[in-house]
Amino acid sequence: MIFFDRVSKVYPDESVALENVTFSIEPKEFVSIVGPSGAGKTTLLKLFLAEEKPSTGAVFYEESDVHALGKKEMNEFRRKVGMVFQDFRLLPNKTVYENIAFTMEAAGRSDEEIEQDVPHVLDLVDLSNKVWNFPRELSGGEAQRVAIARALVNEPDVIIADEPTGNLDPVNTYDVVQILKKINDLGTTVILTTHNKGIIDSLGKRVIAMERGRVIRDDRSGKYFA
Ligand code: ADP
Repeated sequence: MIFFDRVSKVYPDESVALENVTFSIEPKEFVSIVGPSGAGKTTLLKLFLAEEKPSTGAVFYEESDVHALGKKEMNEFRRKVGMVFQDFRLLPNKTVYENIAFTMEAAGRSDEEIEQDVPHVLDLVDLSNKVWNFPRELSGGEAQRVAIARALVNEPDVIIADEPTGNLDPVNTYDVVQILKKINDLGTTVILTTHNKGIIDSLGKRVIAMERGRVIRDDRSGKYFA
């Protein structure tokens, strides 16, 4: 479903961010991408989302080269991918409900769908009691769960969570990881980048380890260190 075929990325200043990276991710997999800062994790995600072009090699999603998509296909492709970031990126002047409704409006969903789906997705992340709160009234863990609900509401095939627990304490980290697991169990592919060894070990799912632009390990045993 996702296929990186011998992908290298050299930025214009000659920084080598990825070197001959090949892997595939099947539908409904849960994959963690780990590696120290500068390893190439962000570049890899940007190449998948077609925000950057590979220098050599190609990135495929369901048989299509994502860097060869026309405008319409690109919009369709990006709608299939939900993003979750370390810094949540909620709209501060909108309530929890409005943050999620806004994303649905942008995707052209009807008022009826919005009224039906927003409560449903907030229930899924266990935040039915915060519907009318503003982001500043939420804990970090709650804010991240709203961001996950927002990423989910348009029913993407893939959720990319880029260091989603980087700003959270251990209890909230645990909650966020449990929700990602639940989403995966319900059939969504999850790609998680993290520095947190404890998360990887507790997940027991596939780990792609990167270092200096290369995949140094691709391991289904679910351990940070093989
Ligand atoms: P990670 O997300 O694992 O920290 P990155 O993909 O951000 O790694 O970075 C990989 C390498 O590419 C680093 O050496 C970084 O300095 C370099 N790099 C990332 N983005 C750019 C850019 N826009 N221009 C030049 N070099 C970049």
